[in-house]
Amino acid sequence: MTRRKKIYEGKAKILYEGPEPGTLIQYFKDDTTAFDATKKAVLEGKGVINNRISEYIMTRLNSIGVQNHFIKRLNLREQLIREVEIVPLEVVCRNIAAGQFSTRFGVPEGQALPRSIIEFYLKDDKLHDPMVAEEHITAFNWATTQEIDDIMALTLRVNDFLTGMFGAVGIRLVDFKLEYGRLYEGDMVRTVLADEISPDCCRLWDVQTNEKMDKDRFRRDLGNVTEAYVEVARRLGIVKQAAAGGESVH
Ligand code: 5GP
Repeated sequence: MTRRKKIYEGKAKILYEGPEPGTLIQYFKDDTTAFDATKKAVLEGKGVINNRISEYIMTRLNSIGVQNHFIKRLNLREQLIREVEIVPLEVVCRNIAAGQFSTRFGVPEGQALPRSIIEFYLKDDKLHDPMVAEEHITAFNWATTQEIDDIMALTLRVNDFLTGMFGAVGIRLVDFKLEYGRLYEGDMVRTVLADEISPDCCRLWDVQTNEKMDKDRFRRDLGNVTEAYVEVARRLGIVKQAAAGGESVH
């Protein structure tokens, strides 16, 4: 037995060296954190369900031409991904006011926005991921103007696709966070979607009841967090069974 080389450990995932150069293994943990990791818990089975949901979404995005780092799922908690250089930005797209947006701008949670709004935050826990403008991003070389243009265009495509995909199963896509990476192919660099897309980084509300089906259940102590994630997977047709214990999350 040999120990795998750990490349990076984040709050919810671990990256290991992959089997071939240019690949990595992304491991989904059950750990969950909020508010700059001041609130922590282990939610049994969360990593397994997020691995499946992210696989499903990345595969569907790939099929409509939104290239991403996903190659294939390896097992319950791991997927093989392409190694990319992460752009140090969190890209948030919002359709409905909620969370920090409501707090910052005084717009009531649940109010539909006149159009989708894309925001950038610097990925830096020590600085509490401050919101940044294009001016900051280009001045400090976090991304080029071309990369920002690519990221905006890709994020809007992802938003359109995911809004339809979730809408078809009775889920409203309120907002979500994406991360992008640079994929080097010879002397070309391509901007591709990276990280994960799961209820950990989206706000998802039931269309009928407005029940939260995402990480806000953990942030706001609403309970049944993993059960809500399983219900999202069930509605998307990824898993067959009802939410754990046979209970509905509603
Ligand atoms: P807010 O800025 O309102 O806190 O979050 C907006 C959206 O982006 C929410 O769907 C939230 O889950 C996601 N998001 C923002 N920052 C992070 C982050 O650091 N980690 C994760 N997992 N999601 C985030």
